[in-house]
Amino acid sequence: MSRDVMQSILQKIKEYDRILLFRHTRCDGDCVGATKGLARILKLTYPEKEIRILDGQRSSYLAFLGYDESPDVLSDEEYATALGLVLDTGSERRISNPKYALCRELIKLDHHIDREPYGNISWVEEHRSSTCEMVVAFYTAFSDELKIDREAATYLFTGMVTDSGRFRFREVSGETMRMAATLLDLGVPTDRIYANLYMQDYALLKFKAYVLRRIRMTENGVAYLHVTRAMQRRFHLTHEQAGAVVSHMDSIKNSLIWIAFIDGMGKDRATRVRLRSRFVTVNEVAEQFRGGGHEGASGATVYGKREVRALLSMADARLQEYKETHEGWL
Ligand code: AMP
Repeated sequence: MSRDVMQSILQKIKEYDRILLFRHTRCDGDCVGATKGLARILKLTYPEKEIRILDGQRSSYLAFLGYDESPDVLSDEEYATALGLVLDTGSERRISNPKYALCRELIKLDHHIDREPYGNISWVEEHRSSTCEMVVAFYTAFSDELKIDREAATYLFTGMVTDSGRFRFREVSGETMRMAATLLDLGVPTDRIYANLYMQDYALLKFKAYVLRRIRMTENGVAYLHVTRAMQRRFHLTHEQAGAVVSHMDSIKNSLIWIAFIDGMGKDRATRVRLRSRFVTVNEVAEQFRGGGHEGASGATVYGKREVRALLSMADARLQEYKETHEGWL
């Protein structure tokens, strides 16, 4: 089945002279790694084709992978003759470059829960730990035709390690490791990648110390943190840095759900919510508050304190029910 859909994607790639790659807004390691990795494979294999990633959004912790072209480098007419490959993006509204809609045909290639299918061809494998893993599977399926190098492998490995929580999440399988091994055999510089992912600014370390003291817990063990506008101003945080607090709560005993609320700095007073869990699922909670995502990692948006409380109490009830009906959790 997946071989058939991969085959039809390869066929479409062969048919087009211009191929544009798209990803989701607020880019992360997986969508950046997958687009850059696949673009590199296609450029190496088809040097005569025009292959571009048109996305002006940036994420500073991924700067070491390099940035991409602005969406404006092509005219609307040029978009209209292209094949669009959209990677790692569950729904159309999350695609960061709105001009994707101009493409003649669209292919979805993703590992999120497929609630809002789109595209002329759709290849979704929800059990995969990352979209990068799917790109490596795609390469592996046609390795007699496609070309890869160390650069492509570096992009893809970065996406694999970031989206799988450094190979810790449940979705990590033997296949994940086989795909990672394929990349390591190409000479991926693991020490450089991990240094870039782990080194932190001194000022941010100070913020971490400040914010750790402010972690709160609901009755049944949902850990949460609220990053207010005042905190963001005081510590000069980017939105990305403010959002990173969610990972500070990821290993508290008894707390199988942890949530970060990050107040937006815009006029609409929206608060971004980042939900994470182990064993119990949280995507249903996110879906009640304008969001969605994976079973153990979802995002949502709330407005005002009342919605913050409503979301917390829903998550708390979910955790209570889980603990009452399961054994062996930590
Ligand atoms: P985040 O906390 O923003 O990293 O999001 C965690 C996961 O949930 C990511 O895989 C996102 O793709 C997904 N996600 C975040 N926000 C939304 C949303 N509003 N709707 C659907 N999925 C989302």
